[in-house]
Amino acid sequence: MAVGTAFSREQKMKDIKMVDLQGQYLRIKNEIDAAIQEVLMSTAFIQGPQVKSFAEALSKYNHGAHVVTCANGTDALQIAMMALDLKKGDEVILPVHTYVATAEVIALLGLTPVFIDVDETTFNIDVDQIESKITSKTKAIVPVHLYGQCADMEPILKIAKEHNLFVIEDLAQALGADYTFSNGMVKRAGNMGIIGCTSFFPSKNLGCYGDGGAIFTSNQSLAEKMKMISTHGQKVKYQHDIVGINSRLDTLQAAILKVKIKYVDEYTRKRNEVADFYDKHLANISFVELPVRAKNSTHVFHQYTIKVKNGKRDSLKDYLQEKGIPSMIYYHIPLHFQKAYQQPGVGEGSFPVTERLSKSVLSLPIHTEMTEDELSYICQTIKDFNG
Ligand SMILES: *Cc1c(COP(=O)(O)O)cnc(C)c1O
Repeated sequence: MAVGTAFSREQKMKDIKMVDLQGQYLRIKNEIDAAIQEVLMSTAFIQGPQVKSFAEALSKYNHGAHVVTCANGTDALQIAMMALDLKKGDEVILPVHTYVATAEVIALLGLTPVFIDVDETTFNIDVDQIESKITSKTKAIVPVHLYGQCADMEPILKIAKEHNLFVIEDLAQALGADYTFSNGMVKRAGNMGIIGCTSFFPSKNLGCYGDGGAIFTSNQSLAEKMKMISTHGQKVKYQHDIVGINSRLDTLQAAILKVKIKYVDEYTRKRNEVADFYDKHLANISFVELPVRAKNSTHVFHQYTIKVKNGKRDSLKDYLQEKGIPSMIYYHIPLHFQKAYQQPGVGEGSFPVTERLSKSVLSLPIHTEMTEDELSYICQTIKDFNG
């Protein structure tokens, strides 16, 4: 008998990761290394030609949208809001169940974040609650396509049109997700609102090896303005027409992304295979609720997030950890409970769905390198949980 087989299954599985960036890199190492080497030799570290060629590839990927690259997804949101001339005191509607960045830029610009609870099945903004929060100060809605599928954009766009509001999509978790309108028209995440903002944080579906971000719009003059804002408000070097920021995508990151964007559909396919496996093998476990796939959106499964019933989420998480299986909670503390984002009169019970989700959601390992062995081990381990 080979020595290796003496190890228990559990020990062999000790390398399960939430995301496997090393494994993903090794499969395309030659191409990536060559792309990095090219930048090193050219020394064009800022605004090298790879920035433009990656932006072109990304534009093609998003069906011809204008693309402005920037330093990260948070800056993308900030640049978008600056370009739309949102003014101090303006109100911006967003889901309360999201990553802090969405609310952060709103607050940073002196705008008022107006939180809305989410739909318990899709985890995305509850469109039925939007209109009741619109006031004369409301200027924009920022739907977040959480975990990889689009928010229900058709009603959101309708409400926005009726009330003359901007829609800025936060697609940091949903690059490549497609939304189908009731007339059959299909649009890609980022192409539905006036602006779409995304992130290339390493663990995102299209991730670079550091920070990176991009903005989509179909409006050319807005694209030009956002390009200016991202580079100190200048169109011509050393001529500053508007107040901007310094938020550029590094040439090295652009070179890496230009290689990786060729594989992004394959990555999405792999993530969907993992999700299908979980769906099949975690069905009919009494304490597990599987993620619901929205009828009108494809899913790129940035996260595979289950709901754990009966208050057992934390004990399941600990048990999995003991068995060598990582898992994550997105998000543990709802934004309206975060010190920096507390608002008068908004407390416990204000957003019951989000508050419940913060106690029940658990994201399982999902990435492009997962093996069937790992997946069956994870599913069997969850089945055996009797905490
Ligand atoms: C990752 C993320 C961001 C921010 O992206 P960074 O590149 O980390 O600044 C914004 N919104 C959501 C929903 C995200 O998941």
